[in-house]
Amino acid sequence: MVRRGRRPAAGTVGVMTPLLSARGLTMQYPGGVTPALDGVDLDIAAGESVAIMGASGSGKTTLLHCLAGILRPTAGSVTFASGQGLVRVESLDDAARSRLRREELGFVFQQGLLLDELTALENVAVARMLGGVPRGQAEAEAAQWLQYLGLAGLEQRRLGELSGGQAQRVAIARAQVTGARLIFADEPTGALDSATSVEVLDLLLSATAQGRTLVVVTHDADVARRCARTVVLRDGRVVSDTAAPAATSGTAAPAAEVSR
Ligand code: ADP
Ligand code: MG
Repeated sequence: MVRRGRRPAAGTVGVMTPLLSARGLTMQYPGGVTPALDGVDLDIAAGESVAIMGASGSGKTTLLHCLAGILRPTAGSVTFASGQGLVRVESLDDAARSRLRREELGFVFQQGLLLDELTALENVAVARMLGGVPRGQAEAEAAQWLQYLGLAGLEQRRLGELSGGQAQRVAIARAQVTGARLIFADEPTGALDSATSVEVLDLLLSATAQGRTLVVVTHDADVARRCARTVVLRDGRVVSDTAAPAATSGTAAPAAEVSR
């Protein structure tokens, strides 16, 4: 049974307008016997924290990538309430989709988005510089986020010189420095020990206390339990969608407006 229970979140402009809305999302990879996504409908409200769970191969990463405009689905639609109004993500061209990702979305993956040769500070600042912010200002903002996330003193370390938990904090700083309103995380704690996982999850959840929205793919029931809502996939379909009483709180973050 699919039970939908969503809490309207503070800061939601119109209660009836979800931040992100997928309809009939279908993804058939070339050569795939069955579709990786098979008609997924999903509404995500601003300020929600949503865990996406399911067995390996159930379509979690494919769903995240379609929602975020990284992959174009073979059928169905994704509507995002961007700062500029409603956009149909799947119908944007590549340049517009990269711009949307750069300006309004944040990503925290297990690996792959940060550059080992750059310092912690540069990895965060570059997200702002790609948006046209001058280096000095970008680095100042990056330094604030690194400090907020407990990385003061490590700004000049190269990524390869940081622990897994520290590197994920850099990724979280990078995901937030741009003012992204929606953060996608794919197994963000998958490579971390359990104590570090809790810290990283706390930081991700604290972003929702600032009005951001979090969609996190996870295998970890402890991670899912702390999200306001859990969506379970099986064979590319949503098989359950449940709201949980979530007690998340956040501390004051550097003043980065959520989506300009
Ligand atoms: P999950 O993240 O839940 O493990 P994925 O979304 O990665 O699942 O994969 C869902 C299904 O799609 C799997 O059967 C997988 O083998 C297939 N798949 C994923 N990526 C590709 C790809 N690039 N090409 C072909 N098949 C893929
Ligand atoms: Mg995956």
